[in-house]
Amino acid sequence: MAWFCSGTNNTELIENLWSAGLIKNKRVKKAMLGVDRDHYAPSSPYSDSPQPIGYGATISAPHMHGHACEYLIDFLHPGSRVLDIGSGSGYLTHVIANLITDPSSPPTDADGHVIGIEHIQELVDLARENMGKSEDGRNFLKSGKVQFVCGDGRRGWPEGGPYDAIHVGAAAVELHAPLIEQLKAPGRMFIPVESEEGEDGLSHVGLGGGQYIWVVDKKADGTVVKEKVFGVSYVPLTDAPK
Ligand code: SAH
Repeated sequence: MAWFCSGTNNTELIENLWSAGLIKNKRVKKAMLGVDRDHYAPSSPYSDSPQPIGYGATISAPHMHGHACEYLIDFLHPGSRVLDIGSGSGYLTHVIANLITDPSSPPTDADGHVIGIEHIQELVDLARENMGKSEDGRNFLKSGKVQFVCGDGRRGWPEGGPYDAIHVGAAAVELHAPLIEQLKAPGRMFIPVESEEGEDGLSHVGLGGGQYIWVVDKKADGTVVKEKVFGVSYVPLTDAPK
């Protein structure tokens, strides 16, 4: 499937993902058409596969960025506050910024924001540099609509919350409590988690039970509902390298 969905330019890639049904939401499609992956992926930007960005990190495959936005879409509107954990290249942070901006008016501080948190300073700098390659990106940085910060994403970033949506771009060992605390009610988190249980329901700690995306909803009354949605393969959410 991956070869089929690749393209020779950004528009072709996104149109192919759309035709293949890997992106289904029109707002997500438009937001992804608005960010050239060439600004964020140093090699094969229009291939539907993860690409290395240095420091042991990768920019995720475009169809995964699409899925993440589609699971969060009902929580991404002008005014929403969003946290993108493990922001890496900054690509998804930019797509999310498009989703929380009203294209008919210039961005203002009042309309919410997206914070990309990353624990490798060089990648924080890289994300800012990547975003600086387009006029839209430069405006997002200048207005504060997008901020990239260096820190341990497992603790969230309380200063920017509470969040309508939290995206986690690396596999966690658990549903970290501070992240659930920093969700708004209502709010939603999309998080890959290293499973401790195999499909048979038995514990497989250390045996690679596999990773799954969990969608965690904090309802308006504060109750938390968790759903395991599909199997994935992400780099781990870890301690910062020494
Ligand atoms: N969404 C990014 C994914 C980058 S890969 C993109 O598509 O470009 C995952 C990122 O998570 C890596 O950049 C890695 O450095 C970062 N990361 C891993 N553990 C982290 C932690 N505890 N806190 C913040 N970032 C972390």
